[in-house]
Amino acid sequence: MSVKAVKLIQPGEIQGMPDDDTPLLVVVEAGEMFRARAARMQVLAAQQSDSPWLAFCAQLMQAQVDCLSRVQAQPIDENVVRESFIHKLPPFSITTWLPEAQWVIVFKALAEALEAQTLAPGVRGALERVKQTALADQIRQAKALLAAEDAALPADAVPFIGATLQLLWSIQAKSVSAFVELHKGESGLCPVCGSHPVASVVRIGERDLHRYMICSLCASEWYAPRARCTNCETPKEVGMLGDTRESALQGECCEECRGYLKLMFQAKEPSLDAVADDLASISLDLALSAEGFSRTGRNLFFTVGQTPATT
Ligand SMILES: [Zn+2]
Ligand SMILES: [Zn+2]
Repeated sequence: MSVKAVKLIQPGEIQGMPDDDTPLLVVVEAGEMFRARAARMQVLAAQQSDSPWLAFCAQLMQAQVDCLSRVQAQPIDENVVRESFIHKLPPFSITTWLPEAQWVIVFKALAEALEAQTLAPGVRGALERVKQTALADQIRQAKALLAAEDAALPADAVPFIGATLQLLWSIQAKSVSAFVELHKGESGLCPVCGSHPVASVVRIGERDLHRYMICSLCASEWYAPRARCTNCETPKEVGMLGDTRESALQGECCEECRGYLKLMFQAKEPSLDAVADDLASISLDLALSAEGFSRTGRNLFFTVGQTPATT
């Protein structure tokens, strides 16, 4: 796949923050989100049926759905949540909050849901290695993945750890729904957990044409003005690079920091899911990398620079 610049937006066209009641932060219902994501991944994996990696991602997302009833949100301190939002600190920060007791329960539930499926031998072996890893090392690896310390991670453990962390944080995120209006302004990182976005999506429906960053961890969505680099503070225009002008997925590319984040247009693909569609569009990453741009989004199913070892 080759990419070409399809649009350049000048600074005068850069969109500001909304002055109406458009929500600036949306926390999702985890069950609904995981079910839609798994269904979307199934479709994408079927479209690229020569990819064992995508087939595995679909199995892992189905396992997330199948173990949802075993994942419980932890009680919250409403004052802490309120103060966190007011002071622009994520209430479930990846630097301070890892429910270690829950880790054991949720990883076990995920592993059992996966093992109920027919797994490729490579996948079964990789899962077994994570299960055999001492709990303290599992927790260390989980914290390394949260901190984007990719070198500290065995590549074939990453998807299992990432899927477990997504369950823990996504179930928890909904518990702050009464406080989301306390989030104001712009943010490069998730206002709920402090993680990087996986991509951004231009929504349809009630939030028609508004662009939201999608959290790679807790799936919360926060408003980001369009046509502005989400990675640096440059006031310069960004370029949109994609397969064609009509592509549902584009790379929003910044000449200043040479970073890019995928921009997805829900109007062109109503069922798209940022995490699933990101996994299924590696060809766009390769093409943008060949143009000299570096990925700024994160996807917790893999670490950049490592090839998936479970395929
Ligand atoms: Zn988040
Ligand atoms: Zn930039």
